[in-house]
Amino acid sequence: MKKGTAIVWLRNDLRLHDNEVLSSAILKSEFQIPLYIIDPRWFAQGDLGFTKTGAYRLQFILEALADLRNSLRNIGADLLIKVGQPEEIIPKLAKTLKVNTIFTSQEVTQEEIFIEKNLENKIFAQGISIEYYWQSTLFHIDDIPYSAQHIPDIFTEFRKETEKTTKVRTLFPEPLQIKFPSGLEAGDIPSLASFGFSLPQPHSDSAFPFEGGETAAKARLHYYLWESNLIAEYKETRNGLIGTDYSSKLSAWLSLGCISPRYIYFEIAKYEKERKKNQSTYWLIFELLWRDYFRLVARKFGNKLFAQDGLKGNSLKWKTDIANFIKWREGETGIPFIDANMRELKLTGFMSNRGRQNVASFLTKDLEIDWRWGAAWFEHCLVDYDPCSNWGNWAYIAGVGNDPRENRYFNILTQAKRYDPKGKYVRTWIPEIAQIEGFNINRPDQYPNTIKYPSPLVKIEKWA
Ligand code: FAD
Repeated sequence: MKKGTAIVWLRNDLRLHDNEVLSSAILKSEFQIPLYIIDPRWFAQGDLGFTKTGAYRLQFILEALADLRNSLRNIGADLLIKVGQPEEIIPKLAKTLKVNTIFTSQEVTQEEIFIEKNLENKIFAQGISIEYYWQSTLFHIDDIPYSAQHIPDIFTEFRKETEKTTKVRTLFPEPLQIKFPSGLEAGDIPSLASFGFSLPQPHSDSAFPFEGGETAAKARLHYYLWESNLIAEYKETRNGLIGTDYSSKLSAWLSLGCISPRYIYFEIAKYEKERKKNQSTYWLIFELLWRDYFRLVARKFGNKLFAQDGLKGNSLKWKTDIANFIKWREGETGIPFIDANMRELKLTGFMSNRGRQNVASFLTKDLEIDWRWGAAWFEHCLVDYDPCSNWGNWAYIAGVGNDPRENRYFNILTQAKRYDPKGKYVRTWIPEIAQIEGFNINRPDQYPNTIKYPSPLVKIEKWA
């Protein structure tokens, strides 16, 4: 039987399609109040002098909220938007609106769990219950062949066994109607400026010129599969560096839950049936499994994910050289391939996977700087920031995570020659280089004075 009024506290599930939280609230309660809370703690200054969440991600969130609000209004509801701490706002709202259940997604990382526990303490005292739903991975946690603590420490082991034994669950249908209490003031969507942020003019070479929201996410997937057939070449193009098309660019929408990985999976399955099935179409699913894996690893290891000695408890020696960190952060190391990537990140909120691997390796293995500083800068900049994928990948590259290979190391010059042989990428992001006619990445003697080669920051013979 349907029971009273529910708050649907949306977090990283800003969509109508395949949304178990929303579907369950509709099934179990008479009225549903979708709610999103922007937490000021996201904008607290960290020890390194920058906020956890930066302008690109916040802008993307605000766009996603506008889109979701629009979709909810089309089915008779609205999206309440509040600014404040969830554990303060929800109990008050629940009391005023006589809510008896909170429906929300299940998160796995430290800060989210801390908020959940504080919230529970308050609402349980008010006689209000909370229901959590697991909904951000491709494979449901209850279907995989491992219990939480037994997730293998090696990805391949996890992938092979899971692929063999587990089926992707079917999609929850998009709700056609939501019963929203009448007369409820939903609140305006705040502006970027109200949080003290502004964004530069979009960069014409941005690899990520997209808007937040479910509508844009579905449009991108449609383009990537059905309009362009790019999916059929993904395995060959995915290490690209320039433009919108070398990879799916779905990560930012996935991180906010504007698109469900299951929805992507079933669209690819349809594409494979109707157009083409090859290694590339499989490879995108393979990458989604990495995403699942990092979430499960975060759940297994808890706060170790954010600790200096990481998941393995490897107490490596890390430097805390702030001057070199700032050079890395600002794209002023003197290594063109590193600087181009870091400048792209700062100017657009995005960097390719190949770039991320290289700059993370450079910071941790060449500059030997505390990997958590790099992860924190990525957290601030990335439009697609996701705590599990970000900290999991950083720990992996720093040698304190799930990499079975000891001492994985990226030779930056070899990488630059392989992935940017003509220097097109570095020319795109480093204006000093762009001015040099016929610049050749393999001719360090051609580097402008501002680019000091060999860089004084690293012993370049390491790369010889
Ligand atoms: P595609 O190549 O099209 O891949 C499809 C999807 O698979 C991606 O959208 C993503 O959801 C998933 N995926 C691909 N590679 C990985 C991976 N290595 N780990 C986890 N999921 C993956 N990804 C994030 O979503 N958020 C992060 O905060 C993040 N931080 C990273 C930090 C470092 C140091 C590194 C090396 C990687 C990080 N990644 C992160 C993973 C990866 O770089 C991005 O997911 C990818 O570049 C996004 O572009 P895309 O959507 O076009 O990816």
